[in-house]
Amino acid sequence: MFIKIFFLQIYSQIRSLYLIFCNIFQASETRLYPEESLKLSSRYRGRIVLTRTKTGEERCVACGLCAAVCPVSCISLQKTEDKTGRWRSEFFRINFSRCIFCGLCEEACPTLAIQLIPDVELGDYEYKNLIYEKKDLLISGTGKYDDYDYYSFSGVTLKKTKIKKFFHKKKNVDIKSLLP
Ligand code: SF4
Ligand code: SF4
Repeated sequence: MFIKIFFLQIYSQIRSLYLIFCNIFQASETRLYPEESLKLSSRYRGRIVLTRTKTGEERCVACGLCAAVCPVSCISLQKTEDKTGRWRSEFFRINFSRCIFCGLCEEACPTLAIQLIPDVELGDYEYKNLIYEKKDLLISGTGKYDDYDYYSFSGVTLKKTKIKKFFHKKKNVDIKSLLP
């Protein structure tokens, strides 16, 4: 029994040395952050931004779905209307000291306005600096989705004749008939 344990320990030592030797020639997994920047996937859920369409319009229509779905209630906004009747956000605020970067706001947004991007450098010494206003959130680009423009096919004011035609064509669906 003693001899068996002795040889097992010798084998274990030799195996450890062999593995160390093999790994000497492997690339290091350790990154010298922040000197060496992190390579994160484009799907990484980091800092939240508000995006614009290709024409530079704000995508957000202040529907409030992102605030409703947020599990920690860190989004607050106020709706306003411009001269054309289009909804916009008067203010849009995210408290990043509470955000858990779950991405539910991005999933809920019908206009793809709110997006999580792979930026993780949000640390600050004071909580109040982690409250981002619209000016801090709104970027000049389209973010991850280049071509999408909600207002190019939805939310546009229809002429009365067009509305009539639309509703005459469509019959009301009996939703009970869709149930199992
Ligand atoms: S990522 Fe999650 S926690 Fe953060 S604002 Fe969006 S819904 Fe809220
Ligand atoms: S970011 Fe999206 S979900 Fe949130 S209010 Fe604007 S349009 Fe609605």
